[in-house]
Amino acid sequence: MDIYDEVMELARRRGFLWHSFEIYGGTAGFYDYGPLGAALKRNIERLWRRFYIAGEGFYEIETPIIGIEEIFRASGHLSSFTDPIVECESCKEFFRADHVGDRCPSCGGAFGEVFEFNLMFETSIGPGSKRTGYLRPETAQGMFVDFPRLLRFFREKLPFGVVQVGKAFRNEISPRQGLIRLREFTQAEAEIFIDPTNKRHPGFDAIKDETLMLLPEGADEASKWRLHDAVKEGVIASEFLAYHIYLTYRFLIEIGISHDRLRFRQHEADEMAHYAADCWDAEVLLDRLGWVEVVGIADRTDYDLRAHEAVSGEKLRIFRAYDETDTVKRVKLKPKMALIGPRFKDRAKKIAEALDLIDATTIGDQDIVLNIDGEEVTITQDMFESVTVEEEISGEEVIPHVIEPSFGIDRIFFAVMEHSFYQEEVEGEMRNVLRFLPGIAPIDACVLPLLGSREELLELSKQIHQNLRRAGFIVEHDASGTIGRRYRRQDEIGTLFCITIDYETIEDNTVTVRFRDSMDQVRVKVDELPDWLSRECGR
Ligand code: AMP
Repeated sequence: MDIYDEVMELARRRGFLWHSFEIYGGTAGFYDYGPLGAALKRNIERLWRRFYIAGEGFYEIETPIIGIEEIFRASGHLSSFTDPIVECESCKEFFRADHVGDRCPSCGGAFGEVFEFNLMFETSIGPGSKRTGYLRPETAQGMFVDFPRLLRFFREKLPFGVVQVGKAFRNEISPRQGLIRLREFTQAEAEIFIDPTNKRHPGFDAIKDETLMLLPEGADEASKWRLHDAVKEGVIASEFLAYHIYLTYRFLIEIGISHDRLRFRQHEADEMAHYAADCWDAEVLLDRLGWVEVVGIADRTDYDLRAHEAVSGEKLRIFRAYDETDTVKRVKLKPKMALIGPRFKDRAKKIAEALDLIDATTIGDQDIVLNIDGEEVTITQDMFESVTVEEEISGEEVIPHVIEPSFGIDRIFFAVMEHSFYQEEVEGEMRNVLRFLPGIAPIDACVLPLLGSREELLELSKQIHQNLRRAGFIVEHDASGTIGRRYRRQDEIGTLFCITIDYETIEDNTVTVRFRDSMDQVRVKVDELPDWLSRECGR
């Protein structure tokens, strides 16, 4: 078994991960998180929220998993979120056309025609009319379409950030890589709306001397870059993007991704989404699978808001004031009220206002048709004249740009498991350890009464177990098997501490606490256990 198999086997056996719908034979691309897996995943998400909500001051929102057709028409998913696929004419299996050769890898059969397959799951909304809906392929669109409301919430000031943590769905063609390619997965995305003319970041100065392993477009291998140099030399497009690449790095390290198996790779020009000004993937090195993307950090420019503006007809812009007011010359239409007044009476004022909004440079010698209160009104050439005026301009309407870090939580989950996993021989026996960090480990501690002990010890251990749980720790109790076996069981699921209750506990009210990684032991007073654990768990 390679490390990948070891980790997957452990994950299955100890209640981290199971194939979904197992009793019915399962379906590729779906996984259940068991009790320990769900706890680990929540811990990763909790830390993510701590970074982006507490740390950056962003707010989380929650929008529907089902989106309506207009959203995905605007975003481009309907027309271009596709993969080319082929079907084997003999075994009828489907493959991604760009992943296979001339013949079917399963049976050697010949392939039919290549065609484009849209990865969105389609559904219908309500009975009867059957309005088409789609399961969202990313959480991002919900945040873009809420832009006008968000702008008001953030009092019309840039920059501001919103996040969503939730499910996304992609009908992947042949998902065979465990958690790496799922049909239903969890994303944690932040959309940070910024001023397109200012991509500096106030936090950049404090981190500019930090270094990261970067693999810029066209480079053969990753090398260490100082962030300041990367921005100055134009390798990373802006301070803002560099800041978020670094924040991603800090987060991944803090949840236990190993520093020397992490790099940031810039998209090649032909791989970059057509809208992105610059895009980097955080990649982790995994056994068997090689370098795998776990986070994408992109400057999406104004692409999304502009696209939704065009399809919805709603203005998705912000008024940006200039530092100084500008004086500009403008050609405008001056209404001749002596003619318009008597002719249109109480509609004259509205007509004058409508004429004022028209760009006079687009009007040649022609009549103008206006829509006033739902009625068409023709204004003939004799009723207005073109005049050049000087106007004071204090700002303009702009479409914000968006910086987007997009995290795939399931891939990160698997990488944390694999990077935390190690095996060592202790006294002739193999010990598996998941070296989870405090705050990430699903179980804080396990209370173990010494075996073959008096009833008194068992009772006392149950009491200590309960007290620790009431104090807010996640604690197990295990009274079966030799102490060595019980330690191994806990090591394998990454429990931080084993607390042993023995005869001394009755005599002097102390317990033995064993550290998972070093296997060192210390004695701690029972009364002081909650404080001791809080300190060691970094709470
Ligand atoms: P993308 O929008 O394709 O850049 O995806 C953003 C992140 O979501 C990626 O970095 C992955 O971590 C994750 N992701 C994308 N597709 C899948 C999938 N099929 N299964 C699991 N995670 C995925």
